[in-house]
Amino acid sequence: MTQVLRQKLIDTALAMNASGLNKGASGNLSVRYGDGFLITPSGMDYAGLSTNDTVWMGFDGKTQGKRKPSSEWRFHAAIYNHHAEANAVLHAHPVSCSTLACLGKGIPAFHYMIAIAGGRDIRCADYATFGTPQLSENVIEALQDRKACLMAHHGLTCFEKDLPRALALAIEVEHLATVYGRILAIGEADILTDSEMEKVLKKFSSYGLQDV
Ligand SMILES: [Zn+2]
Repeated sequence: MTQVLRQKLIDTALAMNASGLNKGASGNLSVRYGDGFLITPSGMDYAGLSTNDTVWMGFDGKTQGKRKPSSEWRFHAAIYNHHAEANAVLHAHPVSCSTLACLGKGIPAFHYMIAIAGGRDIRCADYATFGTPQLSENVIEALQDRKACLMAHHGLTCFEKDLPRALALAIEVEHLATVYGRILAIGEADILTDSEMEKVLKKFSSYGLQDV
């Protein structure tokens, strides 16, 4: 089981880069396993990864494997601890999400698909140095009742119930960020009302990707 899951983690990391969401080794990806999670290693190109390079980390902070875990393991652990429904966590520095995040902007409900992240907006977590407990706290705050957030001066983090859904969510949020960025370049966004977003969220609760 663990070998299959380790390979899925690598395949999803490769797909994340192939989709254009991420460049090189700046992003990181994890999947819940047992009393902890499997995570991509620190600073290694995904292209050459083998299953032995992935790291298992327990919620007690102990690691198993020959590599060091991604430097962002803290917020991965925090997300699993705060969101029982999270089975996969994706973090990347996609261009459009990072652009908005560097302006300190989240994404309001300019488009109904914002609901895919679980609420009526996608927040931007306050800045903190990468890898720090403070960054974990800020990410957890921005992810309250949400599955995705931007991170100021940094990028995007999201979680889902499995790896394919986490990748699909990240791709959708990056698309929304791209469109919102274009709107801001031309004019002002017209935001959907809270009552309309309530309707959309209700519909989304019974709609989604097919089970795989
Ligand atoms: Zn990062």
